[in-house]
Amino acid sequence: MILVLRPHCPEAEIQGVEKHLKDLGFTPHTLRGVERTVIAAIGDDRNTSKEHLEAIPGVETVMQVLAPYKLASREFHPGTSVVSVGGPGPEVKPNANKVPIGGPKIAIVAGPCSVEGRTQTLEIAQAVKEAGAVALRAGAFKPRTSPYQFQGLMEEGLEYLAEAREKTGLPIITEVLTPTDVPVVAAFADCLQIGTRNMQNYLLLKACGQVKTPVLLKRGMSSTLEEWLLAAEYILTGGNPNVLLCERGIRTFENYVRNTFALAVIPALKERSHLPVLADPSHGTGVRSLVPAMSKAAVACGADGLLIEVHMDPAKALTDGAQTLSVKEFEKLMRELKLVAQAVGREL
Ligand code: PEP
Ligand code: MN
Repeated sequence: MILVLRPHCPEAEIQGVEKHLKDLGFTPHTLRGVERTVIAAIGDDRNTSKEHLEAIPGVETVMQVLAPYKLASREFHPGTSVVSVGGPGPEVKPNANKVPIGGPKIAIVAGPCSVEGRTQTLEIAQAVKEAGAVALRAGAFKPRTSPYQFQGLMEEGLEYLAEAREKTGLPIITEVLTPTDVPVVAAFADCLQIGTRNMQNYLLLKACGQVKTPVLLKRGMSSTLEEWLLAAEYILTGGNPNVLLCERGIRTFENYVRNTFALAVIPALKERSHLPVLADPSHGTGVRSLVPAMSKAAVACGADGLLIEVHMDPAKALTDGAQTLSVKEFEKLMRELKLVAQAVGREL
């Protein structure tokens, strides 16, 4: 931390700040100027906050030098992490392909917003697989804005997803809403999704840190990059290293889209963190016609994977139909994405 003291700070106050810093475990190095004194506090500043130090008498402003997150940072882990979804492992699920995310191959994850029934799930799983998707994503537990809307098939939905995996080999990604549901959903799924509304549900994050199942952590709709990486830090410090980040759009004043798809966050995350980054242009726009262009843009700017909503008949989808592609539209997009991936030195 760098502490800038207020102008003409009396010597007694300077020494008071130095003592306070030593009590907190820092080694203070003081630079006395004519008008201003600056103190460099050497030590790990993650255990204390800028606000806490700004409350010390004599201190005007404090600059944090280290990022507040550690395990998620590139300083801590300079390489790029590859998180494997599915495949053999301690929590092996029958017949799930292993999909590494974060390597040279871009992972296209697709499926309907919700599991609506057995046939719907099996049909769409087969269709997205044939089009080139490497994992199936669909919600069995749905976090809905209105309590009157479809809430998901819950455990019954998990059974259909497991059957779809058995038939297609596609690993399953599905949302978990509560800490108590984590073991239940982890017993079925190859990857747990934490949705935008739960990004700062710290008990849920901690519960997901207690398992080894990969976690796809969506960005909170009003969260900064730093808050998002601190949410990832909760899962990582719990002991689960398998975290995937997913940009899904944020709330802004703009209303021609459902959310504002903040693509600059993808290269910004890559500069700061080693964790793989996916993008969800379906929720990122909320508008079907915009999904293909934004999918290509996300791949062009470095996304390690995409999460795209696809349905056999989007007009009949129980949730998020307006942003959902038909199978035909998805197939066309997959052909286009191949070219974009090649142009940026990646493959699908
Ligand atoms: C979803 O993936 O269908 C979903 C509910 O996403 P989000 O949490 O991003 O709104
Ligand atoms: Mn959805």
